[in-house]
Amino acid sequence: MSKRVAVAAANWKMNKTIAEAKAYMAELAEARADIAGEAEVIIFAPFTMLMKVARGAEAAKAGVGGQDMYWKASGAYTGEVSVPMLKDAGCTHVLVGHSERRGRFGVPEPELAGDLGKVFGDTDASCNIKVKVALEGGLIPCLCVGETLAEREAGQADPIIAAQLEAGLKDVSAEQVAGMLLAYEPVWSIGTGKVCDPDEAQRICGMIRATVAKLYDQPTADAVRVLYGGSMKADNVVGLLAKADIDGGLVGGASLKVADFKPIIAACAAS
Ligand code: PEP
Repeated sequence: MSKRVAVAAANWKMNKTIAEAKAYMAELAEARADIAGEAEVIIFAPFTMLMKVARGAEAAKAGVGGQDMYWKASGAYTGEVSVPMLKDAGCTHVLVGHSERRGRFGVPEPELAGDLGKVFGDTDASCNIKVKVALEGGLIPCLCVGETLAEREAGQADPIIAAQLEAGLKDVSAEQVAGMLLAYEPVWSIGTGKVCDPDEAQRICGMIRATVAKLYDQPTADAVRVLYGGSMKADNVVGLLAKADIDGGLVGGASLKVADFKPIIAACAAS
């Protein structure tokens, strides 16, 4: 089995101006020059600044991703952004099914009670279409899965994650899965400062890999990169990346400043 290159993926969520994105990419290029070893860096940025991030991506040795997509190429879908549009803006990747896009927030959003919650309406079925259309269109999807605190406390984490994977990867080929990214993001850990215990994160990431082996085969499971996401930062990244089935991080808060993200990239490069 060849070594999997670790991935440091930044999810900027709904943050930054275009000018801030430009400055970040210049700073990231400088930071990358200081880091020995191999790590893949991806910046998942808001749509408004993707072109600017893409312009700085070569110097920063980074991939560029949208945080969501719609599966039609064009048409009467007000407010949506398609795969060809993301490619046109310079994207290489796209996030699919981030818990916030599924309407599942680590930090409770009381304002989104009732009908308003439907604003963020991704389901396993919509994630599956997005994964397939992204792959067909030449983008690498990062499919996010994970349980809420209530689901964990009910002992449902494992079956829920396995079901999210099975549904999200339906009709996706082994070859396509091998080149994808999967992210285990416990919802209760996202943006809360409560990082998952590394042994438990490893147990779930191992279960994700075993699920891929069951759905496909062992070589596919050995090839796919499984990231951990949820309050990852400089002081917990090394313990998480030391685990056999954790191939990097999907990082929100600690990716917003290069100074905070750099040690995470360095840990990926050293892992
Ligand atoms: C995320 O946005 O995917 C994430 C993991 O956020 P944070 O690192 O802030 O918990």
